[in-house]
Amino acid sequence: MTAPPELDAATRPILAFDIGGTKIAAALIVDGAIEERRQVATPISGRPEDWLAAMVDLASDWQGRFEAIGAAVTGIVQDGQWRALNPTILPVPAGYPLAERLQATFDRPVRLVNDAQAAAWAEFDVRSGIRSLLFVTVSTGIGGGLVTDGKLVEGTNGAAGSMGHVLVKPVGGRRCGCGAIGCIETEASGTALKARAAETFGDGIEAPELFERAKTDAKAAVLIDDALNLLGQALLSARRLCDPDLIVIGGGIGLRADVLAELTSICGRLAPDFPVPIEAARQGADAGLVGAALLAAGR
Ligand SMILES: [Zn+2]
Repeated sequence: MTAPPELDAATRPILAFDIGGTKIAAALIVDGAIEERRQVATPISGRPEDWLAAMVDLASDWQGRFEAIGAAVTGIVQDGQWRALNPTILPVPAGYPLAERLQATFDRPVRLVNDAQAAAWAEFDVRSGIRSLLFVTVSTGIGGGLVTDGKLVEGTNGAAGSMGHVLVKPVGGRRCGCGAIGCIETEASGTALKARAAETFGDGIEAPELFERAKTDAKAAVLIDDALNLLGQALLSARRLCDPDLIVIGGGIGLRADVLAELTSICGRLAPDFPVPIEAARQGADAGLVGAALLAAGR
């Protein structure tokens, strides 16, 4: 039997995972394209062993079909170890050795990365003609990632690009799961909008419904305007710091046309000196999976 030909690093099949607060997704990815994909709800036990068991279960019949593993996770990754930045999203115990556990389980090299950083890398990879990019996702939570001079910036502690925990309301804001007061995640994420709606209208109004109400209800419009203003200010601060070629906005809330238009308007109005294009994410909800796979393939 002849040995299989050496595969180019970019075209090796990669097993990718994306572990979030609500779901764990797994996919077989070749050259940035998803070939097969599955997901389950994240076990709510709070035990990493249960999340690992769910991952093994998802990939059980893919054994032997991948060369490496890329895993995008909510929270902070440092030297292959994983911990929560905001434990209310997913209560990851400090220093959980996920890379080591995955390597021992699947016997393949593992690349572990924060999920929004992975998504930033996927959004950078799909575009040409740029060297830097700031990615911000606004959905249940708020996350971000930064690419500078063609490289993903992970940071000394793995926390670079943590847009959700940029402070916008340190006085009079809400207490965030990270411990600070007035992080943008507690003021303008989907979870924050739901909390704001509950204070004004009572429980049970999710962010999309609040946006609908805002078209005809002045109180709802004030809540949305305030959240988007804070988000615009956070974006502007990050833009000032990084001066990227491009800002990419993703997430269920961030991808709304009215939200994109408002953020563009705020940044243009408050900082007309250096216009930076703002555009919608192209990789969709699987950007984390794709980015983790690209990084695991060495791209
Ligand atoms: Zn925070």
